Parts: sequence; C-alpha cells; structure tokens
Amino acid sequence: PSRSPRWRQPGRFEALGSAFFTYLPPTPLVQPHWVATSASTAQWMQLPPGWLPGDEALQVLAGNAVAAGSRPLASVYSGHQFGVWAGQLGDGRAILLGETANGLEVQLKGAGRTPYSRMGDGRAVLRSSIREFLCSEAMHALGIPTTRALALIGSPQPVQRETVETAAVVTRVAESFIRFGHFEHFAARDMQAELKALADMVIDEHYPECRSATTLAGNVYANFLQAVSERTARLLAQWQAVGFCHGVMNTDNMSILGLTIDYGPFQFLDAFDPGHICNHSDSQGRYAFNRQPQVAYWNLFCLGQALLPLIADEELTIAALESYKQVFPAAYAAQMLRKLGLPADSPGTPPTEGRFAQLVNPLLQLLADNRVDYTIFFTRLTEAVQQMQDGSQPDFEPLRDIILDRAGFDAWALSYSEQLALSDPAQAADLMQKSNPRFVLRNHLGETVIRAAQAGDFAPVQQLLAVLQSPFDAHPAHAAWAGFPPDWASTIEISCSS
Ligand code: AMP
Ligand code: MG
Ligand code: MG
Repeated sequence: PSRSPRWRQPGRFEALGSAFFTYLPPTPLVQPHWVATSASTAQWMQLPPGWLPGDEALQVLAGNAVAAGSRPLASVYSGHQFGVWAGQLGDGRAILLGETANGLEVQLKGAGRTPYSRMGDGRAVLRSSIREFLCSEAMHALGIPTTRALALIGSPQPVQRETVETAAVVTRVAESFIRFGHFEHFAARDMQAELKALADMVIDEHYPECRSATTLAGNVYANFLQAVSERTARLLAQWQAVGFCHGVMNTDNMSILGLTIDYGPFQFLDAFDPGHICNHSDSQGRYAFNRQPQVAYWNLFCLGQALLPLIADEELTIAALESYKQVFPAAYAAQMLRKLGLPADSPGTPPTEGRFAQLVNPLLQLLADNRVDYTIFFTRLTEAVQQMQDGSQPDFEPLRDIILDRAGFDAWALSYSEQLALSDPAQAADLMQKSNPRFVLRNHLGETVIRAAQAGDFAPVQQLLAVLQSPFDAHPAHAAWAGFPPDWASTIEISCSS
C-alpha cells in the first residue's frame, strides 16, 4: 500500500467548474528545507504516519512535485479592501492542491505567481510565514475557529520586500477556504448561475440545516446568511475576549465558515488599549481592535448584498443580518464572564444590566486607563481565584502590583468578590483555567523565534509551537514567554508587507 496521502477527486471546490479557478502547478522552490511541522494538523488530516517530515512531503509541500491525484489550482475572488470595492483579487500566492480523503482542503501559501497575482511575486517571506504558521495553530489551541497549518518550509531563495529576505511556504488546511469575496465576485459580475452554484455547494457541505429551516420565511439563502452572521459573531466575540486584533479585515479575508483566515499584521494585545491599531499600514485605524465587531458587521452587509439576488427579498436579507446584533453582544458577554469564572447573564439581559455591565465594563475601563497587560491580568486573576478553593481568601496583591489606580482596582475587586461568593469557587477556578491562556503569540515572541530562524536556528519555532499548542498549561521551562513584553516589543512595526 502507498504511504502517500490520497486526494479526493474532484474536490468540492474543483467541482464548481472552470469559472471559479485556473489550474496551475506551484512554482518550484530552490533547496527547500523543513522549518516546522504540526503533528496535530497531520493527525486531523489523517496523513499516513511517517509521511511528514519525509522527503516526498518536503517536495510536495514546497511545490516542487505534484502528488498523484492532486490537480493544483488558484481560485478567483473579489472584495472590499479598507472599505472600498477592489474588484478582482484571487489567490495571488496560494495554490489549492486539492482535498484530502477526509474532506479537508490543502493550500500552499507562497507557492508562486498565479493569474491573480497582480503586481505581486507570488511568494511569502519566512518572517510572515512563521507568524501565520504559529498563529494558526495557536488559535486552534485557544478554541478559536481558524484555518490550520501543517508545515512550514524555508528556502534560500531571495524575495524582495523592504529588504531582501528569503522565501517560505506554509501548508494551510481548512474545511474550506471560501471567502465572502468569492460571493461578491460572482454577484458583481451578475453571474447568477455561478453565484447560486457556489451558495448551494457551501450550504450542502457546511450549512445543511439551512435547507430545512422554517425561520426567515423558510428562505434557504436568508437562513444561510443568518448562519454565517452568527458564526462570524461568535468568532468576533472570541477575538475580542482573547485580545486578538486581525489587522486586515477586508471582505476577501472573511471566511464563509467563520474561521480566522489570512494572518498578516495581526497582534495579540499586550497592554489593554481598546483603540489599538496593529497594522502599520492602517493609518485611519479602520481595523483598530475595538472596531472589529462593527467591521465584521459591515463585511456581512457586503455578503448580504452579494446574496440578495438569491434571497430575492431585501427585508429578509436585513433580518438575517440582524442576528449579528443579538449574537455578538451575548457571545462576547458570555466569553468575558467565563474569563471571570462567573455564569453568563440570562439571555436577553441588556448590556446595560447584569454582571457584564456591573463587572466587565468597569474592568475593561480600568485595564485601559492603566494600560494593564491583558493576558497577564487574567492569568493572575485565575491564580488568585484558584487559592480560594481551599477556603483561603484570594490574594489580589499580584494584581494590585500591575495597576496604578489601586483604589480603582480595590473597588472593582470588592464587587467581583461579592459575585464570586455566590458561586462555587472550584467551578469558577476551573472555568477560568480553561478560559484564560497563559501563552498567546505576542509580537515579541514571534519576533524572537523569527530572528533565530533567520539565523538558521529553527528549534525555537518548534518550541514556541509546542507551548502555544497547550496555552492554558504552565510550561515552567518557558515561563518567560508568559511574562511581560520587553521594552523593544512596542517598537515592532508589522505592516501588510509579507
Ligand atoms: P491580503 O491583503 O494579504 O489579504 O492580500 C490581498 C490580495 O493580494 C490577495 O489577492 C493576495 O493573494 C494578493 N497578494 C498578497 N501578497 C501577494 C504576493 N506577494 N504576490 C501575489 N499576490 C499577493
Ligand atoms: Mg488575503
Ligand atoms: Mg494575506
């Protein structure tokens, strides 16, 4: 029996037909070498054991060989970038190899030019590829829907950015890479048959419950839009709760499955700053941290417009989008209360009432005013609550130490303790342990392993991956990675250049 992975043919995307893509092989990469692999993704894909990291895998995932049964292609999509219709975009440097036997799509990112590359060179540099590889796996381990990464391959091949860097290829894996922009593309060209084929395929494969829904007048496409809106709302609630800033929320970077996709200038917040802008090229702050929920809704509105010919009813379209406005605040409040170890308010509680208004809003204000490290605050709070399990009073000193406004903190801690006293401390501690990661991919951690890799030492990438794959555990050998960012962290500038 062959030890190579099998490909399902044709894949669901390929079956849509030639209006959706161009067949083309990846461009070969000179002297490819392994940088890192994710055993967890290999397992998800049910790859034959031992294939990774082998030589055949290296050649296939570098784009130097096309595996039997794989018919590589690049897909076409359009989109709104920074609020403006950008027209045709497409996979400018990503190539879909096909679909695994268990129905997962496999893409090589940075695999060379395609008909959709426009001015780009089709490549990705090692720096940004390390960030995408690590963050994909980090998000998954945090329980946040995301495209995954299987492998990261480097090469001495030069790539021109602000300076000359070297090329890398990330193997990404997802149930589907279809974006809002795929729908916008066919809607903008008035290609209704293709628009319908695309929606029908995505519904049948990923949203089959929409076929039998009785809500929204039983309109299948309105129910589809509502389901996408709800998934997106829950995704944004998770981003906001963990302190993740995406940085380039263009409609072509919005997954139809509500996955986090396209890791570019993203950042996990260090100090809590609601208006934080992580993308150095985003001078207007369109994609600032606290604007993300609103931007997602704007993007869903674009998707709604694209689906309007299928829904064929403006009121139903608006009604489907409305669900975002209910689901996002409820999901976000529930996430934040979990971080505090408290049960969610009863559904329907307005955001001006209940525990959220009483505890979360004032806490976020306190964290913002005092520029408190977001992740460290919640891990120290978790540790304080863990002490209560044996009947002791929580020791809030380690928290007071990191907040300038001590009186403000004490007042908050008092009302928090009162709420906590109403619930079981062991349950609260357990909930908090599972909701407050010790390790997130902070910019300076990425930067540290990038510098090592650029100097030829790839071990730190794999070590950081291992830590990020269980971010709620202690990892005493890497305790420093859970610490405060060094002073130089604030000078790191991440732009769209990747
Ligand atoms: P992004 O801002 O990363 O979402 O990319 C927007 C569009 O530019 C997409 O169509 C990408 O495929 C394309 N793109 C980005 N970088 C490159 C590159 N180096 N070469 C070719 N296309 C690119
Ligand atoms: Mg993109
Ligand atoms: Mg990108």
